[in-house]
Amino acid sequence: MKICRFNNDRLGVVLGEEVADVTPILEYLPTAKYPFPRGDALVTALPSLLPRIREAVRIAPRIPISRVEFLSPVANPGKIIAAPVNYVDHLAEAVNMPELHHGNPIHQIQKVGLFLKASSSLQGCSQGVYLEHPDRRNDHEVELVAIIGKAGINVPRETALEYVAGYCIGLDMTVRGSEDRSMRKSIDSYSVVGPWMVTADEVPDPNNLDLHLTVNGEERQRANTRDLILDVAELIEFATSYYSIDPGDLLFTGTPAGVGPVKAGDVIHAEIASIGAMSVKVHAKRVSI
Ligand code: MN
Repeated sequence: MKICRFNNDRLGVVLGEEVADVTPILEYLPTAKYPFPRGDALVTALPSLLPRIREAVRIAPRIPISRVEFLSPVANPGKIIAAPVNYVDHLAEAVNMPELHHGNPIHQIQKVGLFLKASSSLQGCSQGVYLEHPDRRNDHEVELVAIIGKAGINVPRETALEYVAGYCIGLDMTVRGSEDRSMRKSIDSYSVVGPWMVTADEVPDPNNLDLHLTVNGEERQRANTRDLILDVAELIEFATSYYSIDPGDLLFTGTPAGVGPVKAGDVIHAEIASIGAMSVKVHAKRVSI
């Protein structure tokens, strides 16, 4: 099932070129009292809600996809985990291009470890990316994103995929420079996810998916997730050997070679097999709010 958030925080199921509006399902979510439990409420409740959603789809009003603005399929991830240099070809590219590493040593992911992106950087694909530092190099990074479905700690790779609720496409947008990744990659709108969440049952092997990205129609990145250094299950094992995971946590799995700069006015188009495609506009800096 392809589950989306759209327009004014509505809940939908994508059916071909239409979205079935199943927003009334949200009434079944528990009303939480402070302190709120960790994890995204919808992803936490999803296993029990899926039968109700399937039932609701049958009578739900349909909206053409062309009239839908996609928000992040997960509203409130507790954390956004991300893998640096997790494709062999991107590792080679990063080592060989000074403008990518800025004199910092580039190590394999097993040495570098994972990093966290601020949840305030989360953005739906229809909302676009806002370049807060347009004078610097701002790069696209297309990545498979795993959406965690249940809580876990010290999860072995053998059972790790049981902890995944679904998948979506991610753009790990990046300002190149010497600052820590958690700063350069946490700018508001720099974690684009979308266009929807495909439930894990429709992606039996996340480690064999073609992905590619174009900017203004020009191809920049093309790869297959089979070339991940640490695959999805190994990343979950690695992450949970340091911290627990909760429903709704997002895991950006790393980007292949071909990263490159974007500027205001560009349109990034990203596709991943079994998930879908999304177009993301690049905007100039936001006005202050
Ligand atoms: Mn990345």
